[in-house]
Amino acid sequence: MLPLLFTLVALPYAPEALEPVISRETIEYHYGKHLQTYVDNLNKLVSGTEFDSMPLEQIVANAQGGIFNNAGQVLNHNLYFTQFAPVKELTNEGMNELAIVKAIVRDFGSFDAFKAEFEQKGVSLFGSGWVWLAADKDGKLVITQESNAGNPVTKGLKPLMTMDVWEHAYYIDYRNRRAAHLQALWQIINWEEIEKRYCEGVKELKN
Ligand code: MN
Repeated sequence: MLPLLFTLVALPYAPEALEPVISRETIEYHYGKHLQTYVDNLNKLVSGTEFDSMPLEQIVANAQGGIFNNAGQVLNHNLYFTQFAPVKELTNEGMNELAIVKAIVRDFGSFDAFKAEFEQKGVSLFGSGWVWLAADKDGKLVITQESNAGNPVTKGLKPLMTMDVWEHAYYIDYRNRRAAHLQALWQIINWEEIEKRYCEGVKELKN
């Protein structure tokens, strides 16, 4: 098999389109510099190894050390940046009919209870990492805290939605106010994208 070359994921919006929740400057650094560096490092590290023709999720599930860290950060940021849409494009109309929203209400009691638990797990994660909404093969949902480059694929779960609690994700716009940043992110989550990940992901885990 020919080696895969990992590339910077395309943003489904303009760099300023998420303002004021995420500024253009944050996108320029977080996406344009931090993520680009993880992509470049990953390409260098996998070259000539057993991982150089493996899909990203498989690398994260199997690798360790530098390859795990950089592959994890590429996968995590790909899922992060493609889960957002500009506020004015999101109507949330018909949102309660989505399978993912019905599953959230079933597994967390209510949508508000889910948001509160998610934010609390993001705020209480010590140091750098990610908080995830993930599903198992039966479609049951869990919120996981992952340190550093962690991703729920290492636990056999499908990652659906995430908030990045590394300081580089919020320090330009929110300084030290991690909780305020997490609270604001709900405004730009594209639930139709999370619905797609949920339906396709659970199907994939079953096979
Ligand atoms: Mn990040």
